[in-house]
Amino acid sequence: MAGTTRPRVLVAGMQYELNSFVAGTAGLERFRQFRLAEGEDVWSIARGEEVAGARDVAQACGIDLVPAILGFGGAGPILEDGVYEFFRDRILAALEAESGRIDGIYLPLHGAMATVGTPDAEGDLIGRIRARVGPRLPIVASFDMHANFTAAMARGLDAAVGFKTCPHVDYIETGRHAMEILAGAVTGRTRPCLVHRKIRMMTPPEGHDTTTGPMREVVARLRAIETLPGILAATVIAPQAWMDVPELGWSVIVVADGASALDLASAEADRLGLFCWSQRERYLVQRTALDEALAIAAANPPGNPPVVMTDAADAPSAGSYGDSAVVLAALLARPPMRGPVLMTMTDPEAARACAAAGAGGRLRIRVGGAFQPRFFAPVDVEVRVRAVLRESYESCLPPGRIDPGLRAVVEIGGFILMVIAERQMATLDLRPFESSGLDPRAAQAVLVKSAGQFRGFYTAIAARILELDTPGPVDGVLTRLPFRNLTRPLWPFDAGLETPW
Ligand SMILES: [Zn+2]
Repeated sequence: MAGTTRPRVLVAGMQYELNSFVAGTAGLERFRQFRLAEGEDVWSIARGEEVAGARDVAQACGIDLVPAILGFGGAGPILEDGVYEFFRDRILAALEAESGRIDGIYLPLHGAMATVGTPDAEGDLIGRIRARVGPRLPIVASFDMHANFTAAMARGLDAAVGFKTCPHVDYIETGRHAMEILAGAVTGRTRPCLVHRKIRMMTPPEGHDTTTGPMREVVARLRAIETLPGILAATVIAPQAWMDVPELGWSVIVVADGASALDLASAEADRLGLFCWSQRERYLVQRTALDEALAIAAANPPGNPPVVMTDAADAPSAGSYGDSAVVLAALLARPPMRGPVLMTMTDPEAARACAAAGAGGRLRIRVGGAFQPRFFAPVDVEVRVRAVLRESYESCLPPGRIDPGLRAVVEIGGFILMVIAERQMATLDLRPFESSGLDPRAAQAVLVKSAGQFRGFYTAIAARILELDTPGPVDGVLTRLPFRNLTRPLWPFDAGLETPW
């Protein structure tokens, strides 16, 4: 400890999820659009997040937190050079200012940030922090389940913990867990050491649902490992699948208390890694052909709950823009349904044209492929504008306020109700529809653009869930995408692999 006073812990986080296949680049404005704060302002943007859980534990343990910076930029295309450096320079400056006065560092990270010049931004940051503070100061980080945990991160950290839920609902618990480990380390009660195993496999996130299937078993094993004496944490990281970066692959992380528990931690990490590997085929999902799905939706009788269809390949929560009109085109190519069929579309030009026409206006617009014409062809449609909205809305998932810009609710073909927004909205909860005056529960069918996280809210209202086989930058059939930078061999890209490491 730096003195006889209360321990002090620096807190700094940057959270972003790269999708290499999404068109364009993103800058710091993305973080300003979502959440970005420095110093004490960090607390005001950290409600419901890891930092909030960490703060509870720190207060209970008599630890003073020194917030440096926290930024959340959602998921999207590769970041411009300078974005990571913005965070890095502020964090290193805060370290400099607190030199000799801090007892530990907590980094609430997502673990999937990359810029054009720095494919492993968090690994680079952790390495620089470690070089600055030396080998003894404890550094603990928390990660999203969809991070890509790298050797550089493992080298620089004393401990790492990740989410155990997908859909993610354990932000607070994960922050608490990280700070509990750090509190033990800064008070000298424990000596965390991290064991990392990289598994040469990648899976689409539809299979990461922890409420069912193999991931549920994985989490049960994690909890069992965490009850073992000398083990402080166990985590499985299943990266988001669309990062075209070296070292992509699943990770097992087990944190031991002291060198005496390292053998146990290593043995458990090996066992867990082999289990994940043995289950790999089970993470693949069965997709439904679009025509077949629409026929099922059309047959959904009045009064029945909606058929929920997922166009995961265009999921904004995984970085896409939500500008696919693939399902819209297929709907218009077949006989009209009873309806309503609800869907969302990101298209700034169309949203503005509809807003200019105003409620009740009729016009012809072109939607689809506004951002990613490489993946999505546009569709010309006659619309009747039902409503125009300019307000942001309160979102349940991700938690917090979402500002989609201008929104127009339009009717198409007498049975489609589409929310056209200037900026993308994740359809993980019902709020994008409800806040637009639409009731998903009363629809014949609802199209969501999510790769799995929507289940937390939509399973309860769905007569049936159909995962569509559609193209896009978030394609769950990974071998269809043009990866170039992966460290090979890697399942399922390479056949015939016999071991996970
Ligand atoms: Zn995630």
